[in-house]
Amino acid sequence: MTKAAKILDGRAVAAQIRAEVGEEVRVLAERDVPVRLDVILVGDDPASTTYVNMKQRDCAEVGIESRTHRFGSDVSQKELAVLVERLNDDPAVSGFFIQLPLPTGLDHVPLISSIIPSKDVDGLSPMSAGRLAVGLPSLLPCTPHGVIQLLYRNGIMLEGREAVVVGRSNLVGKPLAQLLLRENATVTVCHSHTKNLAEVTRRADVLIVAAGRREMIDAEYVSEGAVVVDVGIHRREEGGLVGDVKFDEVEPVASRITPVPGGVGPMTRAMLLYNTLEAARTAEDAGTR
Ligand code: NDP
Repeated sequence: MTKAAKILDGRAVAAQIRAEVGEEVRVLAERDVPVRLDVILVGDDPASTTYVNMKQRDCAEVGIESRTHRFGSDVSQKELAVLVERLNDDPAVSGFFIQLPLPTGLDHVPLISSIIPSKDVDGLSPMSAGRLAVGLPSLLPCTPHGVIQLLYRNGIMLEGREAVVVGRSNLVGKPLAQLLLRENATVTVCHSHTKNLAEVTRRADVLIVAAGRREMIDAEYVSEGAVVVDVGIHRREEGGLVGDVKFDEVEPVASRITPVPGGVGPMTRAMLLYNTLEAARTAEDAGTR
């Protein structure tokens, strides 16, 4: 007999983090320290516009000022590079990010690479990634940090445990592996060339799936009692979202599991607010504002 897995409720933990951030923003406001998040949004991709609107609503909820710099798809690489430099230098801007993907013809790599680490609230620049890899302080990528916070705030210890990550993207898999190492887990990273994937994932005490393959992980991939975190997000034609994990099959096997929606997604959004607050605090400590 297996007992039903306990849901790792990302909405609840994200609400807790937003409340903490809101409180800190109020404390900073009393000292006249502004906290401001700027966004660069190019083109009219509906998904990007929706994400930016959601992030702005999140900011409003916790008292963070937000500004969006909107451009048509015909904006030049140079214009964007100039804006990045301006935001880097503007002491009123705590942090900023470029909403991806950029329209065809624009290259996000040099733009993201030129964001200074102290304002890189997405934590995705090569400099931020390098700082994380060598153990220097940095703003952490929102999704991987959200996963760690979700585990930590549910009392799931990582030290000495077998953590298996499916996926090695710069956005999720690689930084997540770095963070798990930092928590003293024993980390295995799988990818599309991994042989006998199910054999590897069954070794996991904590299995984190970020493969971008709809419902690819079924009960065969999960050992009894494992903690399962599903980063994947897929829109179903019939409406609603599903993840990389077949929830109904895996839930009875796992001890804890994230739902989709309501698991990692809300955590990602909350960690952006957290990073913006961190950036404002760091600027205040450094006397750069
Ligand atoms: P990418 O497509 O960039 O990376 C996917 C990774 O999974 C690659 O490393 C790939 O291997 C690996 N992979 C693909 N297929 C398999 C397979 N069959 N077996 C083993 N490994 C495989 O995706 P992202 O990391 O950007 O995103 C992953 C998922 O997470 C997506 O569904 C995305 O929508 C979602 N996401 C959710 C977020 C949230 O807030 N909840 C935030 C960001 C992403 P290889 O390197 O060999 O190609």
